[in-house]
Amino acid sequence: MGYWTDGNRVIGVFGLGRSGRAAAALLSQRGFSVTGLDIRVDVQDCPDCNRIVTGDDMTDCLSSLDGFVISPGIDPESALPSAARELGVPVIGEIELAFRNTDIPVLAITGSNGKTTTAEWLGYTLSKAGLNVSVAGNTGYPFCRAIIENPDADFISLEVSSYQLQTIETFRPLAAAILNITPDHLQRHGDIEGYINAKARIFMNQHDSDLLVLNRDDSGSIPLAGRTSGLEWYFGIGGSFETGAFSEGNSIYYSDSISTKFVIDIRDISLSGLHNLSNALAVVCLAGKAGVQPEQMVCGLSSFPGVPHRIECIRKYHGVSFVNDSKSTNPDSLKVALESISEPVTLIAGGMAKETDYSQLRSLIADRVKVLILIGDASDMLEKCWSGTAPIFAEGTLDNALKRALDQSAVGDLVLLSPGCASFDQYSSFEERGEHFRKLVEDLN
Ligand code: ADP
Repeated sequence: MGYWTDGNRVIGVFGLGRSGRAAAALLSQRGFSVTGLDIRVDVQDCPDCNRIVTGDDMTDCLSSLDGFVISPGIDPESALPSAARELGVPVIGEIELAFRNTDIPVLAITGSNGKTTTAEWLGYTLSKAGLNVSVAGNTGYPFCRAIIENPDADFISLEVSSYQLQTIETFRPLAAAILNITPDHLQRHGDIEGYINAKARIFMNQHDSDLLVLNRDDSGSIPLAGRTSGLEWYFGIGGSFETGAFSEGNSIYYSDSISTKFVIDIRDISLSGLHNLSNALAVVCLAGKAGVQPEQMVCGLSSFPGVPHRIECIRKYHGVSFVNDSKSTNPDSLKVALESISEPVTLIAGGMAKETDYSQLRSLIADRVKVLILIGDASDMLEKCWSGTAPIFAEGTLDNALKRALDQSAVGDLVLLSPGCASFDQYSSFEERGEHFRKLVEDLN
């Protein structure tokens, strides 16, 4: 029995959102007394907390705690976790807590883009192959909740963000995939090296039989090579590897140290775009490590319906297609969206900009975008970065943007919401932004 598993202690849970409440539920189930903490003074919705402390009283209660669990949204270096550590109170994150409380093997996925899609796709593929699997983590369904609700799962397909990796200690996935590394999220990690090192934590506890899967096509991932103590496999489009998954012509192959086997024809994969081919190859590697045979992967790879808000077709209206890619919150995801669409695009972009260079998209926009409509705080900056590439309309809100898009689009065109920016200037989440777009499009008549 261990410190975080055998109850009889008082544990603080900081941040009573979805993950914090799930951590509280798990701790309570294991017999701990739970003190919930949150900066919001009106928080009362933590059914598994024995006590809730908010606002200025939080620092005072730290000395009564035996341990401190922080939610992924909380910076581990911020004042309260730092004060807890100074008092000698051990601090871990929700992922670490869950990991210590389960024996279910974890297949973990991280990267800058494609995590949710790949984690869901892996879960779907394993389920179609007959396994009992939970998809959890940064997908919105906390790891702690998954082990409470499905304690007998064969595997957990776990999406982990670099924030969540900052607060692990013993977390050790059976297999881990790092999909790609691009300079997103730098605000929290300082610089690209800090960001890469945060991602590298996903394999820091791996043993020699564990697996790390890296993307051969991603130059950002090069600094990660040769660093795991476990096995290192690759996935990539074109070119074969001794171990991993690759495409050659229209065929996908899976290769372990024993043999190379055909898996599926690329044209039978259910999601389009090269980025999704890349995600599918990662799924093949991880499913293979989970013991799924190539022929058992086919059903999942060919029928996965995709995840809402990721290049999601909503409807056609008067011959114009409307696509919701609200989850595009950085220039890289905007880039893959544009690359995966062949129709003339009326692009709606903007929101709260990331600290990256948007002018890198100039030639792609000039090539693919017919009309550019900007919304949100980033409008002025984006207009400067992209001026001269396509006609630009700064419309402020999504409502106005959609009116303009209708006005500017013709039969055969495609209206794409792929903001390339965070949503927080006008919405509470990318989901809310995507649902607003969906409603506006569905209401067209
Ligand atoms: P994450 O969970 O890492 O944010 P998602 O699967 O939610 O990733 O997708 C986020 C955005 O990135 C979407 O706009 C999606 O179309 C795009 N995307 C998905 N897979 C990839 C990939 N492998 N490379 C780049 N962009 C991707």
